Amino acid sequence: MADRLGPARAEPIFDRVALIGLGLIGSSLARVVRRMNLAREIVAVDASDEVRARVTALGIADHVTGDLAAGVRDADFVILCVPVGACGAVAEAMRNGLKPGAIISDVGSVKGSVVAQVTPHLPEGVHFIPAHPVAGTEYSGPDAGFATLFLNRWCILTPPEGCDPAAAAKVRAFWEGAGSNVEEMTAEHHDLVLAVTSHLPHLIAYNIVGTAADLETVTESEVIKFSAGGFRDFTRIAASDPTMWRDVFLHNKAAVLEMLGRFAEDLYALQRAIRWNDGDALFEHFTRTRAIRRGIIDLGQETAAPDFGRQKPDEQ
Ligand code: NAP
Repeated sequence: MADRLGPARAEPIFDRVALIGLGLIGSSLARVVRRMNLAREIVAVDASDEVRARVTALGIADHVTGDLAAGVRDADFVILCVPVGACGAVAEAMRNGLKPGAIISDVGSVKGSVVAQVTPHLPEGVHFIPAHPVAGTEYSGPDAGFATLFLNRWCILTPPEGCDPAAAAKVRAFWEGAGSNVEEMTAEHHDLVLAVTSHLPHLIAYNIVGTAADLETVTESEVIKFSAGGFRDFTRIAASDPTMWRDVFLHNKAAVLEMLGRFAEDLYALQRAIRWNDGDALFEHFTRTRAIRRGIIDLGQETAAPDFGRQKPDEQ
């Protein structure tokens, strides 16, 4: 499996890509679009003066603006990289600037809600192909991005029924150009799968770190000192962006509540096994979960390194 981005494309896929929201994901896209020649020109659109100033200083876009309608004008590809809850308002504000035939996409961690928010605002003649790169870190903002964030990671496309196949093929080529493996599924299926593989683990991490912090019998210094006992790995996840994750839970409510119900049942089964000294049940369960971890490593989605194998941006 390639551990580096290959050579840049001879011909870009798009003429002008407009990235809306230059945080971790948007700024990583800007970097890989430039590195891999995925588009001729990059327009960065962000509501924050501070973010725009950083993007300008970093030199990762050709044009930087806070005006949504002006930013998407003449773009043949527009990607919403804002928190899930902001997608509807962004689509409404940019609609008058969209060029006929433009392809609109997003990177939101929830798909059903984004489709429901964005679709009503899109004019006739533009193509909406939602996407979710299953790649990220616990860092935010334009300085946190790096070009290899999507390398060897999955990107899930949820093309709506009856969409233009040529538009979907271009979005697929774009993500493959960024180094991702691409898979397609419905928005509903995506939200169910991600509820268990991503959203629930984040909720558990937020919860356990909060519980440890609340324990009055354990001092803060002990929590930090002995964190290698498992807690530390949860703290990394629990450091993820509060705005992004608030929106994920509010916008994937049904699937998260369904998975949380199943999780609680399984937790009670483990609780019961401990109470009744059922070592066989515990051993069998832990053996099964260890095999799942090995499977993830074998599929190249993780290394066996104890620090999650995550490369630091300056090592990219
Ligand atoms: P981030 O680093 O916090 O960046 C979000 C950016 O969007 C910020 O610059 C923010 O500006 C800007 N923004 C917020 N509301 C806006 C609006 N109404 N108009 C224009 N700009 C706006 O977040 P991120 O991690 O890149 O996440 C962005 C999206 O990617 C989310 O939908 C998330 O679900 C998805 N995603 C994230 C990950 C991950 O691991 N982080 C992975 C896959 C997908 P301010 O700083 O001023 O708020």
